[in-house]
Amino acid sequence: MTRVLLIGLDGFGHDFSSRAFAADLMPFLADRARAGIFGPALSTIPPVSTAAWTTVTTGVGIGKHGVVDFRRRDMADYAFIRPGRLVSSADVRWPRVYDLAGEAGARCFVLNVPVTFPARPVNGVIVAGVLTPPGSDRGCWPPSFRKFLAGYAYDLDGAIPADLPPLCRRLGELAASRARVAAAALRRERFDLALVVFTGPDRLFHRFYAEAYAWETRADVPPAAASYFGTLDAACERVYEALGADGALVVCSDHGFGPGPSRAFFVNRLLRKAGLLSVRADPGPYALNVVLAGLKKLLGRGRPLPVNWRRTVAYGFPLYMRWGGVVVNAAGEQPRGAVAPEELPAVTEEVGRLLTLAAGDEDDGVRWIKKREDLYRGPATADLPHLIFEAPQNVVISEGKGPGPLFSRYADPAKKGEHTKEAMVLAAGGAMGAGKPVEATLEDVAPTVASLLGLGHGGMDGRPITSTAERPRFLP
Ligand SMILES: [Zn+2]
Repeated sequence: MTRVLLIGLDGFGHDFSSRAFAADLMPFLADRARAGIFGPALSTIPPVSTAAWTTVTTGVGIGKHGVVDFRRRDMADYAFIRPGRLVSSADVRWPRVYDLAGEAGARCFVLNVPVTFPARPVNGVIVAGVLTPPGSDRGCWPPSFRKFLAGYAYDLDGAIPADLPPLCRRLGELAASRARVAAAALRRERFDLALVVFTGPDRLFHRFYAEAYAWETRADVPPAAASYFGTLDAACERVYEALGADGALVVCSDHGFGPGPSRAFFVNRLLRKAGLLSVRADPGPYALNVVLAGLKKLLGRGRPLPVNWRRTVAYGFPLYMRWGGVVVNAAGEQPRGAVAPEELPAVTEEVGRLLTLAAGDEDDGVRWIKKREDLYRGPATADLPHLIFEAPQNVVISEGKGPGPLFSRYADPAKKGEHTKEAMVLAAGGAMGAGKPVEATLEDVAPTVASLLGLGHGGMDGRPITSTAERPRFLP
């Protein structure tokens, strides 16, 4: 069995990786990229880390694994108003590639993969990733592995350094400690499959997008960032060599980065404008309602907008940053549903059309809007908003509970950069060829890993990546 290492680099877009490899900032990964298949891979919609890493590790889309965001929210409760609880490993409805490999007898080592807390038993070792509470005793399996985690941090804990050099230093320490734990484990015993995710780049690019991500030439890269990229590259090499340098290496990111938002778009105001969301005829003075809503929220039962649900056809449901949903207020699905089941398909179609028109009047708040069935396959599709839409890169979608303009200015120093759908994939060694991947998506990563291990991937949505060099793409 070929041993396989899958390394995840959170936020490493294909554009960034190409520049970083060409500028010799990451010599180990650049060498592997030249030797194997390297190119862009389409992320999930929305391209949020929890959803995308779950797709990377299952080989299926959101419609099957069911993880959409960091929190679980219940549309049927009109709960778009309230934040839901954090997602956990119990929310992932599909087996991970290391579960399947483990069943086939492969020993697996899994470190820092998002949405793996609480750690569930595997054929090997698992240390959970982001969303693991610091100090939790359910962060790894088997529990006896805890003795190797002294001083290990699951994520950036505490205050995040505000300046670039201390942040880079802290992230470099995190990467090095992750590589140390992984390399030591891989040298102690033989593993057939190892997965290690580094989340540091995402934390850096959100805050220092212009400096650390969007540079053009090597001379523009701040020394602290260049040093961090070098540390990260060395961490990848260290883990790879510990697994056995004759193994196959697969590297992917979960999404890329672009400029952060400068405008907030209030989706429910657009729905009101389009006549799809109805507010009670006499809601009373707005200020009074805000006060009452605040009180109710304090008491744990907030219904801030005096929506007339019986007369509301649809309402907005922000998903992540510039990706949003629209829920049709369907009878049988929602507690006070107004749309009859037999009318649902036609109404969904019409809501999409009206929204596109209404958005076009004012500004480009909606780049596209699609029915959920056109984006997702599988039983979890029914838990998603009926319509999904994407706003431009400089927009963040807000609910817009009260009256006001469709857009407002938005500035957040922690969001100088935001996610794009362009992730990357790199696969080298084993039976991999070389070249650029053919139309890769993140669903293809787990099938690639499975096939390198000599396992089937029939239950996955993706297929093993192939390259233009191996399989020329003939257009009809
Ligand atoms: Zn992020």
